[in-house]
Formats: sequence, C-alpha cells, structure tokens
Amino acid sequence: MSEKPKRGEIFAATKKVVPYMLRMAWKIKPTVFLAYIADFLVSVTETLVSIILPKFLVDELILAISANGTRENIVNAAYCAAAIILVQTIARLLTAAMNAYISVCSARFMQETELMLSRRAMNIEFFHTEDPETLNRLNAAREGMTWYSGGVRGVLDSIYGVVKNVGILFGVSVAVIMTCPLLLPIQLAALLIITLFNTRIQKLRLEFWSKLSKINRVAGYILFQIGSPQYGKDIRLFGSADMMCEKQNRFADELLAINGDQNKETAKNQVVMDAVNAIRDALSYLYIGTLAVTGRITVGEFTMCASASSTLYWAIYGIITGLQQLGSNCSYANKFIDFMEYTEKPPRVGRHIADGKHRIEFCNVSFRYPRSENYVLRNVSITIESGEHLSVVGLNGAGKTTFIKLLCRLYPVTEGEILLDGVNIDEYDEEEYRRTISVVFQDFTLFAFSLRENIALSDNADDSRVNEALRLSGLYEDAEKLEKGLDTMIFKGYDENGTELSGGQKQKAAISRALYRNSPIVILDEPTAALDPLAEYEVYRRFDTLVGGKTAVYISHRLSSCKFCDKIAVFSEGTIKEYGTHDELHALGGVYAEMFDAQAEKYVLDVRCKRHIRGKM
Ligand code: ADP
Repeated sequence: MSEKPKRGEIFAATKKVVPYMLRMAWKIKPTVFLAYIADFLVSVTETLVSIILPKFLVDELILAISANGTRENIVNAAYCAAAIILVQTIARLLTAAMNAYISVCSARFMQETELMLSRRAMNIEFFHTEDPETLNRLNAAREGMTWYSGGVRGVLDSIYGVVKNVGILFGVSVAVIMTCPLLLPIQLAALLIITLFNTRIQKLRLEFWSKLSKINRVAGYILFQIGSPQYGKDIRLFGSADMMCEKQNRFADELLAINGDQNKETAKNQVVMDAVNAIRDALSYLYIGTLAVTGRITVGEFTMCASASSTLYWAIYGIITGLQQLGSNCSYANKFIDFMEYTEKPPRVGRHIADGKHRIEFCNVSFRYPRSENYVLRNVSITIESGEHLSVVGLNGAGKTTFIKLLCRLYPVTEGEILLDGVNIDEYDEEEYRRTISVVFQDFTLFAFSLRENIALSDNADDSRVNEALRLSGLYEDAEKLEKGLDTMIFKGYDENGTELSGGQKQKAAISRALYRNSPIVILDEPTAALDPLAEYEVYRRFDTLVGGKTAVYISHRLSSCKFCDKIAVFSEGTIKEYGTHDELHALGGVYAEMFDAQAEKYVLDVRCKRHIRGKM
C-alpha cells in the first residue's frame, strides 16, 4: 500500500474500475446517464455558440460603424447578442439542474457504497477481523471510495470530463483549422510540457495518500475509539490520557510533515506550469495579432481565434487532466474493489443439518492462529455425545476459548477435523451451521440498540419469547423496572434516556440472547465472570436445566459451576490432560481434584467470612 502506483498499475486499475463503476451506477440509478448526456449536449452547444457567434457580432458591428454600414448590420448584431445571451442563460439553468440531479444520485451511490462496505466488514471470515492487513485495506477502501476518488460519482465525472472535452475539442478545432491553423501546434506543445508536470503532481498525490492512509487509521483509533466510554475507566484510573495525547500529537506531527512535503513539491511543479502558460498566451496572441494586422483574418475572426485558442487549450488540458484524474480516481476506487475481492469468500452452501440432538467429535485437532507459529491446540480428540453436557476447565491460556472458536467454525482447523453427526463441519451450509450453535463468549458485545433488539438481534422480535428469555436468565425483574421496558436503549452514549447495565445484568442479557435463539447446541464461555460464585452457580444451574437434553459445552473458572455436567475435560497447554465425570476426576487426585479442592476451601472461607461480617453488623 505504501508503494508508489506504477503506470501499468494505474492503467490496469482504470480498466477494471471503469466498467465496475458504470455497472454500479446503472444498477443503482440508471437515470444518472441521462443527466450526463443532457449536460454534454448543453455544454458543447453553449461553448461553440460562445466562440462562433461573437465573430459575427463583431464583424457586423464593425460593418455597422463603417462608411457602408446599414441598419441591417445593427439588427444582425443585435440578433447575435440576443442568441448568445439566450443560449448561455438556458445552458446555465440546465447545467445547474443537471448538477443538482447528479448530486442526488451521488448521495445514493455513497450510501450504497457504505452499505456494501459495512455488510462486507460484518461478513468477512472471522480471522480477517484480527488481521491488520485486512483492516488497512478496509480503511483504504473506505477512504479511497469517499474523499479521494469521490466514489462512483468521482469516476463518472472524470469519464464525463474527458468525453465532454473531446466534443468541445472537435467542434473548436474545425473553426481554428479554417482560420488560424498554427494555434493548434502552439497549444499542443505547451500542453505537452504542462502534462509532464501535472503527471508528477498526480503521482505525488497518490504517493502521499498511500502514506497518509495508514497513519490516519492508527491516529483515528486514538481520536475516536479511545475517547469512547469503553476505554474511559482504564484511561482515567491509570492516568494514561497524557500518554494517549502524546501519541496523538506524534501522529499529527507526522501528518503535518507529510502534508508540508506534498505542498512544497506541488508548488514547485505549479510554478513551471504557470510560466509555460504565460509563454503559450504570448505566442498565440503574437500569431493571431499578426494575421489580423496583415489583413488575413477579420477583427471578428481575431476575436473568435483568441477565444478559441483558450477554449482549445482548456479542452485538450481537460482531456489530459481528465484522463489523469480518471487514472488517479480509479487507483483510489480500486482499493474498494480490491477489498471486496480480497475478502470475498465462496458461498458456503453445503449439507443440510438434520433436526434433533447433535454429536460432536474433535478428531486429532491441532491449531495455530493465522500469522502465528505456535500451536495453541495439539492433537485434541474428544467426543461430546448428543445431549451430553461437557464442562471445559483449565488455567488461563490453556486453549479453552480456542476450542470453542474452532467448534463455531470461526477459524479453520490447522490439522485434524471436527465432525458434527459424523460429517466434517466445513461441509455444512454455513448459515445453517451457525444457527445450530448458540454461544455466549466472555467478551460478548451488547449494542447501543434497544433491549429487545439486543436479545433478538433481528427486526422481527417476538416479545413473548424475549420476555421468556429474560425471565429464564433472571433479568426480567430488572427489565420490568425500566421506564420504556424492552424499548429502552442500552448505553447512554447514543440516547440520553438509555440505560447503563451492570456487569452482571449485561451477562444476563447475553445469556438471554442465547436462550432466545433456541439452538440445539449451546455454549457458555465464561460469560459470568462478573457474577459472584453463588450467582454464577445459580445461572449455570438454571441454564443447565433450561438446556435440558440439548448438547452443551460450558467453560468456567469456578469448578463448582460445572459439577452437574455429564463430563469434564481439563485443558492444559493446548491438550486435554484429564477427562471424565466429576467423581472420576476427583477420585483421580490429579489437576482437577487439586483445583476443585482449592476452590472449595476458598469458598468455605468466603462463606465463613461473610457470616462473620454479617454477625458483627
Ligand atoms: P483460554 O480460553 O484457555 O484462556 P485461549 O484459547 O483464549 O485460552 O488462548 C490460548 C492461547 O492462544 C493463548 O496463548 C492466547 O494468547 C492465544 N490466542 C488467543 N487468541 C489469539 C489470537 N486471536 N491470535 C493469536 N493468538 C491467540
């Protein structure tokens, strides 16, 4: 991304982006093409009328004031002036109307682009969400498709700019060749030099933009993310605001330095371009002035050539810069297509999953995270019989959550395979597979939406089922006290009447979400850490009853919460160290027994301590 785009790359991008954007525009708002065609006809007509009619106007006026002048000359001159004014006024009105309409279309294009990006960002393979390369590409796609290229409209405008100037060039060239042919090479020579310098400016822009995009993303993180309440506590309690501001300052300095370099380089090239323009004007006037003085063209033709000379120049300039602009816009906009292609995944349509309970098997599964050399799981083999409740325990970093993530198909396994009812999970239809599992992770997310939407995660929530899920998770009484009930917005950041839930309430909301989904396989990955041991035990016990005959996997630090499970798997350093029922593992006297007894002892101490304090009060 930080590399300078080469000419071949710009050409390739243009070849790819132009048809893509034309298709997109046609799909979203086909009438935009009518607006461009109408504007083309109006603009070309107006330009030609403004160049050619003044010749007749001036010649008629000169005749009128000459010795042989007649009334007819004055009338003709008046007609010419009226025609010029009329055409220019109509053209201005129509162009304004077309521009307004194109702007409306442009807003739709932007909206659609944002929607496409958001949808893709939410549906990309999960491992992409942790990949800095993907995040940089997403940022480049967003920036490239908005302010750098102007998106679909930016590309359409560049194409239109070229087409319109070709039309004007064609019309004006006919008039120039017939009266003052040398004007053409003068304009072309000047343009050749100017184009060289303009190309350098465009390249510089692209080069600087590549550098800026990466810095902007990191700087944006500090500016927008860290300012959010999610980070508020840690920043205040650890007094890290100064450090954050210092970082932001450093990024701002870097951005300023890059901008400063860009402006300096651009200004140098601009000075040369201005000088070439001045020489071009001098030569043009010298040439047509000589033709007029020597009587080879009339005064009217002199006026026409003077105005045609500049129109000619700007038409060719418009074509060249338009092509450059098109190339540069396409290079930026290509980041959008690039992101869409990079994150494209084949449709995961696959086998249908039969109704009923499900049996899960991990067969010799080993796994390392993308871009990591270390195996997090090694040769894990375990069977969770249909309807069985498995408890997964182990120290932090043992690989428990990774085990769940693989089961949820968030990452593909590195070695081995995972079977659901005897079939590799990758063979199932992805959406259907995801619906089969309800999981509550320890780092679940609640959204700044209503309580109802947070539980149902759908536009068509069934209130009676939402209430039932809240009742089962133990959140119903609290929800009932909320003034707006299920319509209450979670978090105050986006709605001043919103509510801030406590840690425990949030976890109950997350559990309600899993219950609402009613999937045949349920997983709790320590979503209860904010609850005290008794409350957690209560949630797990109640959840276990609710889950009933479904296949279930629970992860918890507190082993008492898993005592009622059919089987317990003890993870350690990415492998299953012990496996069996609570009684078997306790009798084994291994890691599980040691952890369980230590926690039981602490629990007894806690209870005694609480009783002692209560007694004193
Ligand atoms: P547990 O749930 O038992 O605490 P995890 O499965 O979360 O353990 O983590 C197991 C190991 O995998 C840890 O060493 C952790 O640092 C590593 N790990 C977890 N997530 C990622 C990730 N997204 N990328 C790289 N390594 C990870």
